[in-house]
Amino acid sequence: MKPALIIIDMLEEFVHGRLKSPEAESIIPVIKKLIDTAREKRVPVIYVADNHFPVDHELKVWGPHALKGSSEARIVEELEPGPDDYVLYKRSYSGFRDTGLDMLLRDLGVDTVILTGIHTHICVLHTAWDAFYYGYNIIVAKDGVAAFSREDHEYALKYMEKIYGAKLLSSQEVIQLIGGKK
Ligand code: ZN
Repeated sequence: MKPALIIIDMLEEFVHGRLKSPEAESIIPVIKKLIDTAREKRVPVIYVADNHFPVDHELKVWGPHALKGSSEARIVEELEPGPDDYVLYKRSYSGFRDTGLDMLLRDLGVDTVILTGIHTHICVLHTAWDAFYYGYNIIVAKDGVAAFSREDHEYALKYMEKIYGAKLLSSQEVIQLIGGKK
């Protein structure tokens, strides 16, 4: 197994802003621990971050959010990318669509994506969908993702497990899997 840790949309907009998840702040330390372990174990750390133009289609549903150049589009400071991490920008739900993520994962020799971030039932789910069709194994750190409600969160986890064959692991299990200390 050659995994990469993917951090989806841990931006000001979704953690503290208008489209925040109530659980977003509580998953920050969980993701931080995963990032620290991944860096230590030389598992690639890849951020995919909403970075919209005002004309983007999705804004018809959600209104303007995480606009390119705005403070809302910044990655939260607790999870600031390190010098060896990768940051890719997106204009749709999926971390794969027009971001270069597939090419990067192939160049890194990655076969398994470990998904974290928000929201479980929107961008995490759509990233899992593409990961499945690009042929990657999917692990979701179930305490490292969050949604608008518990219901949205649970529904999406079950959906990814059933439909994409995603493995739902606790962050502790992920840390063990990539060889880190508990
Ligand atoms: Zn968006």
